[in-house]
Amino acid sequence: MRVQVAIIGSGPAGLLLGQLLHRAGIDAVILERQSREHVLGRVRAGVLEQVTVDLLDRAGVGERMHREGLIHDGIDIHFGGARHRIDFRRLTGKGVTVYGQTEITRDLMNARAAAGLATVYEAADVAIHDFDTDHPRVTYRKDGVSETIACDVIAGCDGYHGVCRASVPAAAVSTAERIYPFGWLGVLSDTPPVSPELIYNRHERGFALCSMRSRTRSRYYVQCSLDDSAERWSDEMFWDELRRRLDAKAAETLVTGPSIEKSIAQLRSFVAEPMRFGRLFLAGDAAHIVPPTGAKGLNLAASDVSVLAEALIAFFAGDAHGVDTYSARCLRRVWRAVRFSWWMTGLLHRFPDADAFAHKVQTAELDYLVGSEAAMTALAENYVGLAL
Ligand SMILES: Cc1cc2nc3c(=O)[nH]c(=O)nc-3n(C[C@H](O)[C@H](O)[C@H](O)COP(=O)(O)OP(=O)(O)OC[C@H]3O[C@@H](n4cnc5c(N)ncnc54)[C@H](O)[C@@H]3O)c2cc1C
Repeated sequence: MRVQVAIIGSGPAGLLLGQLLHRAGIDAVILERQSREHVLGRVRAGVLEQVTVDLLDRAGVGERMHREGLIHDGIDIHFGGARHRIDFRRLTGKGVTVYGQTEITRDLMNARAAAGLATVYEAADVAIHDFDTDHPRVTYRKDGVSETIACDVIAGCDGYHGVCRASVPAAAVSTAERIYPFGWLGVLSDTPPVSPELIYNRHERGFALCSMRSRTRSRYYVQCSLDDSAERWSDEMFWDELRRRLDAKAAETLVTGPSIEKSIAQLRSFVAEPMRFGRLFLAGDAAHIVPPTGAKGLNLAASDVSVLAEALIAFFAGDAHGVDTYSARCLRRVWRAVRFSWWMTGLLHRFPDADAFAHKVQTAELDYLVGSEAAMTALAENYVGLAL
C-alpha cells in the first residue's frame, strides 16, 4: 500500500488531520491500535475554544456540535464559601463551547466512513521506519498478517503512550515534565448539571470541578491522592465528598444519580521538543500533555493539527516552509498553554506539602484574581483561546 500520509492514532488529532487532508485531496490512512468502540468509549475532554470550533467547521463536521453543544460565557470560581463569576463574554467578547470529545470523535469517524476513507482499527505492533529519509514506511499486523505502508510523511497522533515519539533516538528529542502529587477522580452521570456553567471549587479538602457534557449529562471531578483507586469509591462516597467541597447553594441543589463512568486521571505537564523529525511530525498528546484544569489538551491537539494540515498541503504543492516552521509555530502556543494549565492547577488544588503560609498565599491570589479586572481578563483570555 502507498499513501501520501500515514497517520498513527485515531484520537481527535489523527481523525481531524485525516479529515482536513481528505478535503484538500491528500490521501491518508489511519492506523489505530484499539477498536473503534474502545476509542469511542473513552470519556475525556469537553471544553472547546473557538479556534477548535472553527476548525471542526472547516473540516465539515461542525453541524451536530452547533446543534447540541452548549455555549458558555464564563465560569464560576468558588473559594472560602463564596462563588465568583469570571465573565468571559464581558471580558473578552468570546465564550467556549461544551461538546464532548467522544462526540467529536464520533462525528469525525462518521464523516470518514461516509467518505469511504481507510482506517485500520486493532492494528497490532505498529512500527515506523526510515523517517529520516524521503521514503518512510510503517509496518503493522492485522489479523495476524504483516502489512507495510510506504508513504511520504508519517503523522504521529498516537498520544502520550504511542510508538512515534518513542521511536525517535533519545539524543534527538528533549523533554520537560512535571508530575503533580494528586489525581482527579471523575464521575459521569445522567443527571442535570448543578449549574449551567462550570464551577471550579478550591476547598480545604481538595479541588473539585462541576462540569457537564449536555443539559442532562454531568461530569464531576474531585481531587484525590495519587495512590487512590476508582473501585474504592462507591457512588455515595463520591457524591458526599463532592458535596462537601461545593458552596452551600450548589451543595443543596446538586442532583445525584448512578455513575455511568468512574475513573482516575493523573495530572501531568509534559513537552517533547522538537515536534518534527525528518518526515515524522508529532501532534497532540504524542508531543505534549497538560493537566486538564485549563481545559487545553484537546484544544492544543486541534491547533497542532490545523498548523500541520496547512503545512502538509503546502508541502505536497512544493512549498516546504510550513513543514520547516511547524515545530516552532506549535511550541510557542504549547508552552503558553502549559504555563496557563500549570498556573490554574497551582491556584486551585491542595498540595500535600502546603503549609499554612502556602494556603494563605493561595487564598490571597484567588482574592486578588476575583477583585482585579486585569487578572480576570488574563484568565479569560487564556481560557477562551490562545491565538494560533
Ligand atoms: C483520562 C483523561 C481525561 C482527560 N480529560 C480532559 C479534560 O477534561 N479536558 C481536556 O482539555 N483534556 C482532557 N484530556 C486530554 C485530552 O483528552 C487529550 O489532550 C486529547 O485526547 C488528545 O488527543 P490526541 O488525538 O492527541 O491523543 P489521544 O486521544 O490519546 O489519541 C491517540 C490515539 O492513538 C492510539 N495509539 C496509541 N498508541 C498507538 C500505536 N502504537 N499504534 C496505533 N495507535 C496507537 C490510541 O489508542 C488513541 O486512540 C484528558 C485525557 C485523559 C487521558
